[in-house]
Amino acid sequence: MESPNPKAVVTQLVRKPQIIPSSEHGICRADISENALKVLYRLKNAGYGAYLVGGGVRDLLLGLKPKDFDLATDAHPEQIRELFRNCRLIGRRFRLAHVHFGREIIEVSTFRASHNDATAGEGHEEDGRIIRDNVYGKLDDDVWRRDFTVNALYYNIEDDSVVDYVGGIQDIRDRQLRLLGIPEDRYREDPVRMLRAVRFAIKLGFEIHPISRQPIRDLAPLLEDIPAARLFEEFLKLFMSGHSAETYSLLREYGLFAILFPQTEEMLCHGNEYIHKLLTSAFKNTDKRLAEDKPVTPAFLLAALLWVPVRNLANDHESNGLSEMDAIHLASDAVISHQIRSTSMPRRFTHMAREIWALQTRLKNRRGKRPLRLLTHQRFRAAYDFLLLREEAGEDLQELAEWWTKFQQEHMEVLLAAKKEHLKKRLRRRPKRSR
Ligand code: ATP
Ligand code: MG
Repeated sequence: MESPNPKAVVTQLVRKPQIIPSSEHGICRADISENALKVLYRLKNAGYGAYLVGGGVRDLLLGLKPKDFDLATDAHPEQIRELFRNCRLIGRRFRLAHVHFGREIIEVSTFRASHNDATAGEGHEEDGRIIRDNVYGKLDDDVWRRDFTVNALYYNIEDDSVVDYVGGIQDIRDRQLRLLGIPEDRYREDPVRMLRAVRFAIKLGFEIHPISRQPIRDLAPLLEDIPAARLFEEFLKLFMSGHSAETYSLLREYGLFAILFPQTEEMLCHGNEYIHKLLTSAFKNTDKRLAEDKPVTPAFLLAALLWVPVRNLANDHESNGLSEMDAIHLASDAVISHQIRSTSMPRRFTHMAREIWALQTRLKNRRGKRPLRLLTHQRFRAAYDFLLLREEAGEDLQELAEWWTKFQQEHMEVLLAAKKEHLKKRLRRRPKRSR
């Protein structure tokens, strides 16, 4: 039997949009960033439709602070550019407008219709997504290209109402994530939606609707075809937003973690209790630091995620006669080059992870002037924190960890001077802002 057109299925249920007046939804203009409002007003005053859409509306309805504000309009990209001097058009095939206000970028997209009907054919691939022959459309076309019902709500600046074609408001009330259309088709069209489902479920505390949840396990391998750079972006959003511990559990449950970190998954599959503890502690520490507004780096998580594969391989090399340091370097190279086939990693992060691993060996050596020299190493603190993490996960390192804790207390002035020096170096290296 031919599968029904998803648009037809949902429009049968929701023929007309539900328009929720401002008195009923609780979003007020003061919640929207000043810059997003400026863009909305200028579009409106120029006679175009102007809407806040996506996570901005969803988060405000939930009383959360949106990460960014995305807008949608019936103005075409060139028309948007004419209205704003600080506007750049990006994207090759489908152009988006970025309106720049210092560090804040307001993304404005023109309503699009994506043909899901048979005449549109298979489409072509761009960035791992299947892009059908997209054409500009109206608001009620644009709705269907969005991923989840709760991401397909439009706040209209004209009258402050929220436009809901898809039952998104009810799903917000029910706290559930429901993919628009037929889940299997939508995941095939863009497999990253599976990661987005997990990310939003955790961030919002929502349940993934059973029908949207069901195909994920089987379709997870589709993520292997997504460019590694895009997966790295997703990795950052998944693990650096303050909920990495829960995200990790859910990603594993759905078989998605295995695609992102295949070498780590292999160790986990072998029932390695140590790695599970190490990762859980690393994620909890990261989440705690983020909650306390302390700086975090993805390099530390990367070091934890790949530590056991690196250490195991290094052990093999050592038993084949290599020195401990050579073994760890060689193992780091191999594990990282395997990893970047799944998720690319900027060099500055892989480099830092390598340093953290190599320093684990140097931390053992407490003879002569070595410890004092190590205190001034740029990665000393990260390496010491990593040592504590390993100890917490069950390695017999208590004596060594306590020794380093005491040593630092006794040489606080050396630590502080080194920190100042690293900071100075960093400032000297920082490129001047382009005008
Ligand atoms: P957040 O900004 O909090 O991560 P968001 O929902 O705003 O969440 P964005 O990545 O900023 O997510 O995307 C903005 C909107 O664009 C989404 O709400 C959704 O409507 C649409 N969108 C983004 N990525 C996809 C995708 N892969 N498939 C379909 N729609 C998408
Ligand atoms: Mg957003």
